[in-house]
Amino acid sequence: MQPVPHAARRFAPLYRLLLPAGAAFLLTAAAPPPEPPHFTHWIDGTTGSEPETQVQRIDADTFVIRQSVETNFEAPFLYLLFGRDRALLLDTGAGGLKIRPTVDRLIDAWRARHGGRPIRLVVAHSHSHGDHHAGDSEFHDRPDTDVVGLAPEQVAAFFGIADWPQDTGHLDLGGRVLDIIPTPGHEPAHVMVYDARTQLLFSGDMLYPGRLYVSLDKFGDFRASAARLAAFARTHPIRALLGAHIEMTTTPGQDYPMRAATHPSEHPLPLPPSVIAELHQAVENAGPAPEIDRHADFIVYPLPPRPKAD
Ligand SMILES: [Zn+2]
Ligand SMILES: [Zn+2]
Repeated sequence: MQPVPHAARRFAPLYRLLLPAGAAFLLTAAAPPPEPPHFTHWIDGTTGSEPETQVQRIDADTFVIRQSVETNFEAPFLYLLFGRDRALLLDTGAGGLKIRPTVDRLIDAWRARHGGRPIRLVVAHSHSHGDHHAGDSEFHDRPDTDVVGLAPEQVAAFFGIADWPQDTGHLDLGGRVLDIIPTPGHEPAHVMVYDARTQLLFSGDMLYPGRLYVSLDKFGDFRASAARLAAFARTHPIRALLGAHIEMTTTPGQDYPMRAATHPSEHPLPLPPSVIAELHQAVENAGPAPEIDRHADFIVYPLPPRPKAD
């Protein structure tokens, strides 16, 4: 929420008198949305040598971990969110490195800032493709840790989603309740995670600056998820979407070659909330034989049905 400027506050009673309630609401709603999170340059494989992971902080309880493209071409983004009692790690990376040391270091530092408070770790996934859970085995023997399963039924059970994929689930980290939005299509167990505290939507592989792969036989599921997502966005303030990869360059509509070893001039990680309606419209317009559909910030990328690992 943006602070109300002094002038608007002073005149608020006046326009309440002069305008009907609906008009006053429109004035309020016209306030500019909060800024997206600001990140410095991400590791992108262009320097010849870079660390296996890079961490950037959104706030004291919200962290982004980027896995180096040098460890795996997918170079995914992982998210670590802290509440009072639990932390959520969303995804464990694509393999080719040990991811747990980075996560443990962040948790240890957070605990040190909170008087050594114990905190349970939930390891969950945007979806079950291999580039998002390759590090799970590092967490199976970690104390005070729950690793959520990869099948839709397991995800639904953990987050209390009675009617998958129609219902929204929840995860209470302690003073920080996350909404878990089933979004099958890219993959059957795909979810997005909405954090009301930061107004961020962690959007996985369904909507990020890159190629939004969807098997043609699952396009109907993808379209239905886009419609549910659009409905969610109409009732929840969204500051930005943070997805799981970057495959677009800073040139609108231009992606990197598949399996690119470096990502010079990457598109920013955050996407504006307007891309939700843009994606919804794109898949509604796609017709019975969807084709590759390039947009400035993403590419809808239908594929013939086949096994796919990312
Ligand atoms: Zn995927
Ligand atoms: Zn992926």
